[in-house]
Amino acid sequence: MDTTVLVVGGGATGVGVARDLAMRGVDVTLVERGGLGSGTSGRSHGLLHSGARYAEADPQGARECIAENRIIRDIAPACVRDSGGLFVSLESDDPAYYEAKRDACREHDIPVEELSPEAARERVPDLADDAERVFEVPDGVVYPSRLVAATGADAREHGARIATGSPLLDFEVEGGRVVAAEVGGELDARIEPEYVVNAAGAWAGECAALAGLDVEMRPTQGVMVGVDYPRLGPVLNRCRDPDDGDIVIPHDDRVVLGTTSVAIDDPDEMVEDPDEVERTIRECAAMLPSVADVERLDTYWGVRPLYAPDEDSRGGERGISRGFFLLDGSDGGAKGGSDAGNGGGPGTDDGVENFLSVVGGKLTTHRLMAEAATDRVCAALGVDAKCRTAEEPLVAGNEADAVDRLVAEFDAQGPADADVVGPADD
Ligand SMILES: Cc1cc2nc3c(=O)[nH]c(=O)nc-3n(C[C@H](O)[C@H](O)[C@H](O)COP(=O)(O)OP(=O)(O)OC[C@H]3O[C@@H](n4cnc5c(N)ncnc54)[C@H](O)[C@@H]3O)c2cc1C
Repeated sequence: MDTTVLVVGGGATGVGVARDLAMRGVDVTLVERGGLGSGTSGRSHGLLHSGARYAEADPQGARECIAENRIIRDIAPACVRDSGGLFVSLESDDPAYYEAKRDACREHDIPVEELSPEAARERVPDLADDAERVFEVPDGVVYPSRLVAATGADAREHGARIATGSPLLDFEVEGGRVVAAEVGGELDARIEPEYVVNAAGAWAGECAALAGLDVEMRPTQGVMVGVDYPRLGPVLNRCRDPDDGDIVIPHDDRVVLGTTSVAIDDPDEMVEDPDEVERTIRECAAMLPSVADVERLDTYWGVRPLYAPDEDSRGGERGISRGFFLLDGSDGGAKGGSDAGNGGGPGTDDGVENFLSVVGGKLTTHRLMAEAATDRVCAALGVDAKCRTAEEPLVAGNEADAVDRLVAEFDAQGPADADVVGPADD
């Protein structure tokens, strides 16, 4: 089977790349080993970042978030809840940090409205008594199952092939190029692509290794805890240096508490430590005390696709950057490795020229990551077409029932929004 571009991985990034390529007229096949979003995307916390979380430490990340936040609301309203979000500084939190974040938001075009503690309590009656300083930003809630399904469907609408249940098993590399890919599962095919995009998230290192390349990932796990609390309006963020248990996400009948950040060796081997769960509840209860006493409904874990060199430069797994990286198989970002499996052909010191890894990032910025990756692929293929993914709405993206049917079709239901995303009605 021939395809111009093979995309490996059907999380938000992979479906975003497939959509962008297809909209630019490029023949593309996406292979995903499970259902769409079955890796990290469907197991995220579901915060549609306004950028405020990053404003004082990572201005570029903050600006990307506010721009993408607006775009996702425009192109996929059924995938978003327009909740707003509060940054809450408790008595014990540093007032200077609050001021720096508030001012940085204003500097980076993130709308901010300061609320008195009384006004904040009108919005959130159960807010902690010692909440002293509060401002509001345009955070939202994103439903990842809907987002990946609608994006995948839109890619298909523009001509992409989307193959779920189809793991990439191996690459054949000859003369510094991937010449073929072996795909198992439902597709069960030998594919001869002109170009490969590795969008395998936390598994990007394993995917690259099959082509003899070294992409060093630093997977970190985080836990989310759903509790029975139907009355929260806005997202709540603790206004302090990022730490465990500082975000509460509102759904219809539950809130999702999170999260933690613990480095692990293998993204398929998360360690479900009960201490992480207790810590998350305890820390979130500092902002919203009643969540400690209500019924726990569910617990799920996800693994961040962090790029190790970036995390190391920022001091470990709580490094604030959630920026993304394009690692060209032909340059130093992803070097040939002689001891890595490469599907029969030797990895070369010169790398693999038709291979791009796109790693790191956030659900909120997946479209931008996809645009950057697609620009790079189009330059390599000599395709001269502009990105239109920010302007054109997703197919069915404004109609929840229709998107939920696509969720079922693409096996895209993840734990993050299983209480909101309805069963398909036919
Ligand atoms: C705990 C936690 C909380 C988070 N909260 C937020 C948040 O609130 N807001 C936000 O914006 N971001 C958040 N993120 C980050 C965000 O979820 C991720 O950055 C994003 O979902 C990554 O998408 P992706 O497509 O790159 O990776 P993934 O969604 O993991 O997609 C990669 C896919 O590749 C597939 N794959 C792997 N190997 C193969 C193979 N051999 N063959 C075929 N397919 C393969 C996997 O099955 C997977 O589906 C959070 C992340 C975590 C872990």
